Amino acid sequence: MIPAVEAHINLTALAHNFARVRKAAPNSKIMAVIKANAYGHGMIQVAKALFAADAFAVARLQEAVQLRQAGIKNEIAVLEGFQNAAELMDFARYELQAVVHQPAQIELLRRTQLENPIQVWLKIDSGMHRMGVAPEAVQACWKVLQKIESVSIVRLMTHLASADDRRSEQTQQQLETFKRVTAGIEAETSIANSAGILGWPQTHSEWVRPGIMLYGVSPFLDGWGEDEELELVMTLTSRLIAIKNFKEGDAIGYGASWRCPEDMPVGIVSCGYGDGYPRHAVPGTLVMVNGMPTPLLARVSMDSICVDLRQQPDAEIGDTVLLWGESMPVEEIAQSATTIPYEILCSVTQRVQFQYIT
Ligand SMILES: *Cc1c(COP(=O)(O)O)cnc(C)c1O
Repeated sequence: MIPAVEAHINLTALAHNFARVRKAAPNSKIMAVIKANAYGHGMIQVAKALFAADAFAVARLQEAVQLRQAGIKNEIAVLEGFQNAAELMDFARYELQAVVHQPAQIELLRRTQLENPIQVWLKIDSGMHRMGVAPEAVQACWKVLQKIESVSIVRLMTHLASADDRRSEQTQQQLETFKRVTAGIEAETSIANSAGILGWPQTHSEWVRPGIMLYGVSPFLDGWGEDEELELVMTLTSRLIAIKNFKEGDAIGYGASWRCPEDMPVGIVSCGYGDGYPRHAVPGTLVMVNGMPTPLLARVSMDSICVDLRQQPDAEIGDTVLLWGESMPVEEIAQSATTIPYEILCSVTQRVQFQYIT
């Protein structure tokens, strides 16, 4: 049985992109971000392929425990840290680094006896205003952490809110805030995400935290992975399962929102939002049928999309359809669906058959 939708994960491209991080930030250690199932690519397989990473970052404790249970020995930082004493004990048990972003977590550390001390990243809110301790609290938090028995090494982290926009002034402002409030503290720091790594060398420090660029996608608004010497890791393919000849004026799909402008062949592709293809992709979004750009028409359904075969009289049932891949950047699909590539990649569902190739 051939699976209807396949995601080919190119581990050579992944390794290339990892090397691209090294080249861009040669003096930094790399904390590879593999949260959310490695942006939809398969967390365990990606972690194994990125064995050279100095550390991994995941969002949740549960993700880190999965990595440990799969035998991953690299350092692992958990970006949301712990919420209670039981979780905190798991950090000690599984030897995980905790990102500490609010005073309640410091209090828990102070009160909880651990079997072995854990490493901590003190997350500072330098302007993103999501997680992180307030700038004015940094020095005090740092001093308290130094004295806690359950804490071994303390490092400093902040996250950039607008590095994807090369013209934004916020990145420089955040950097200045971070430097000002951490003055005098001797500790390793980590600031840069993918956009920081590629666009803002002044944000490179002891550690960088690449996510999206590892998967071959540009972190910039209106940018392309190719421009950054990145190679797309995931290729999503399906097949034509029907070809229909409709008459001028026939309405296609849900809501009858698209009408044939003339008598024409329409291809049905076995891939829809139930596989992770974005439902909001508009008619005209391109897919590749037998390697040729072919526009989508009508609404995306759960299991299928419809394509305009007027330029492809020789197309046949069973022909390969590429939804995204080297010849069809995921950035373009994201634009057509008014979202970002991050969301497209994370949305690929369980139903898709994953294949890892080198
Ligand atoms: C997700 C995340 C990253 C990676 O960001 P990219 O834009 O994918 O490179 C880095 N740091 C933190 C705190 C994150 O949440």
